Amino acid sequence: MTNLDIIPLKDWGLNTQRPLVMAGPCSAETEEQVLKIASQLDKTKVNVYRAGIWKPRTRPNSFEGVGSVGLRWLQLVKQEYGLKTATEVANVKHVYEALKAGIDVIWIGARTSANPFAVQEIADSLRGVDIPVFVKNPVNPDLELWIGAIERIHQAGISRVGAIHRGFSSYDKSKYRNTPHWQIAIDLKRKLPQVPLINDPSHITGNADLIEVVSQKAMDLNFDGLMIETHCNPPKAWSDAKQQITPFRLHEILNNLVLRKEYIDGSLMDDTLEELRAKIDYLDNELLEVLLHRMDIVAKIGEWKKQHGISIYQSARFESIMDAARLKSMNIGLKEDFAEIIFKSIHEESISIQTAILNSVLLKNK
Ligand code: PEP
Ligand code: MN
Repeated sequence: MTNLDIIPLKDWGLNTQRPLVMAGPCSAETEEQVLKIASQLDKTKVNVYRAGIWKPRTRPNSFEGVGSVGLRWLQLVKQEYGLKTATEVANVKHVYEALKAGIDVIWIGARTSANPFAVQEIADSLRGVDIPVFVKNPVNPDLELWIGAIERIHQAGISRVGAIHRGFSSYDKSKYRNTPHWQIAIDLKRKLPQVPLINDPSHITGNADLIEVVSQKAMDLNFDGLMIETHCNPPKAWSDAKQQITPFRLHEILNNLVLRKEYIDGSLMDDTLEELRAKIDYLDNELLEVLLHRMDIVAKIGEWKKQHGISIYQSARFESIMDAARLKSMNIGLKEDFAEIIFKSIHEESISIQTAILNSVLLKNK
C-alpha cells in the first residue's frame, strides 16, 4: 500500500492545528465525572474528548466500562462544551451504537487491531460511513499487522484513517508499561506518510510522571498529535489510575511543549546541518567497512574451528567480548546497554557466518 487516499488531518473537521489533542478519561465512569472533566479542559488546546465506554480488560471481574449509557454522557459533552467526542470500538455492536449516538471519532484498541478478523468485521460495518477512525498499534510489535489493520479500514472506504502509537506489550519489566519501540512508529510514518500519526504517552508510560517527556519526544519525532488520558481525580479513577493526569497538568504539559520547525523540502536545512549529515554519512560508511573486515576475520576463524572440530559458540569468549565492549563503552561515555545490543547483534551475525561455513563443509563431506 503506497498511495493511500487519505484526507490531510487539518481537513478532518477536528479544528486542529498541530498537535491534535485527544484528552479525557480512560473510562467514562459517571455522568458527573464525564462532564466535570469536560468542563475543566481548555477547549482551545483540546480538540477531541476521549472516553472508553467498553473497556477491554486483561483480567475478568474488573470494571469493563459503563456500556452504552455512557454514550449519552458523551453527547452532553458535545452539546455543552462543543468538543468532538471519541470512543473505542471493538466489535460491530460497538460501531453501531457509537454511530447511532453521533460519536465523532472512533478508535480501534491495541487488543483488537492485533486480530485481523475483528478488524475486518469492524471495517465491513463501516462501509458507507464517513467518520474518522484511528487504529492503535497491535499489542505485539508487528508493523505489518498494524499496517494491515489500517489498510482494512481504508479499504472499507474510510478516507480519514489515522494511527495511534501506544507502545507494545513485553514480559520484561521496564520503566514503561508498554515498550515504545519508536522505530516501529517511525517506520509506519515512512511507509504510510499520508496517515496521521498520534502518540499515546499514557499507555506507553503507564505513569503520570512520564507523560511530559514522552509527549515532547513524540513532537520531536514529528507526530501529528497526542492522546492523553485525563481525569478530574486520577487516584480515584476506575481504570488506569496511575497514568491519568488532571486537566490542569495536561494544560501545563501542552503549554510546555516545544514544537520545533518541520523540515520542509530542504528549505530549513542550513549548511551546518548539511555538513553534519555529511560527517554522519562518512562515519556510517566507515562503520560498515569495519564490520565487513570483522566478518572476514570471523569467516577465517570459522574455517579454523571446522578444521579443529571446535564448536562455533564459545560462551566464555562471548562473555569476554561483551565485558570488553561494556567496559570500553563506559570509559568513553557510550551507554553500556547500547553497546550490548550492538555486540549481541554482531555476535549473532558472526555465528550465522560460521554456521554456514560448517554446514557447507558438512555438505561437501557427504
Ligand atoms: C484506552 O485507550 O483506554 C485503551 C484501552 O488503550 P489500548 O487499546 O491502547 O490499551
Ligand atoms: Mn486506559
